[in-house]
Amino acid sequence: MRGTFLEIRPRALTDNARRARALANGARVFAMVKANGYGHGLGLAARAFANAVDGLGVAVIEEAQALRHLGLAHPLLVAEGFFDAEELALAARLHAEVVVHSPWQVDLLVAQPRPVGVWLKVNTGMNRLGRSAADADAIAQDETLTRGIEVSLVMSHLACSDDEGHPRNALQLARFSGIWERLRPRFPGAVASLANSGGIWLGADYHFGLVRPGVSLYG
Ligand SMILES: *Cc1c(COP(=O)(O)O)cnc(C)c1O
Repeated sequence: MRGTFLEIRPRALTDNARRARALANGARVFAMVKANGYGHGLGLAARAFANAVDGLGVAVIEEAQALRHLGLAHPLLVAEGFFDAEELALAARLHAEVVVHSPWQVDLLVAQPRPVGVWLKVNTGMNRLGRSAADADAIAQDETLTRGIEVSLVMSHLACSDDEGHPRNALQLARFSGIWERLRPRFPGAVASLANSGGIWLGADYHFGLVRPGVSLYG
């Protein structure tokens, strides 16, 4: 059998991250390094992006822990959030911010003694995780629903952004813009984030305050 090997040039990854930053004209950039840096190696990817981005994103808390063990002090996002009080306490210790997509997570956050930065996720069409538009309206109107939690960002995820002409892109943008307008007064100081890789290429309307490129950084 012939062997197969993959040659990875970390500098090309760094250049890709700089390219994403230039395209995002002014939005903060969080490079996604989940799933072992999309298979390239978590440490290799994180180090390659470290000086070109504002923060790093992982899926689960163990990956955030691994990044801290590597000595990376960057802002960290845990995109699947936490699933119990122990994971939340670990996120707090690691100074990792967590995505909140379900009401039961709010109770755990309120009970958690250390403050943890929260990214509130709303579902605008990906239909994977996230609060509905109706939930977002309730949150906008009723401050008791998020009392005691620190929402630093409101986010959603595009389902079809790799297909530039897909009608769902504009639909999700319109839904997200509406939800953000209504939530914004509730969370002064928070920023909004919609774009994954494809969203960055869809243009400035999609960038909001922070972009989250993943797959495009590895090509
Ligand atoms: C994986 C992920 C991304 C990156 O998506 P790409 O399509 O790979 O650019 C962005 N945001 C979140 C929340 C993710 O989980």
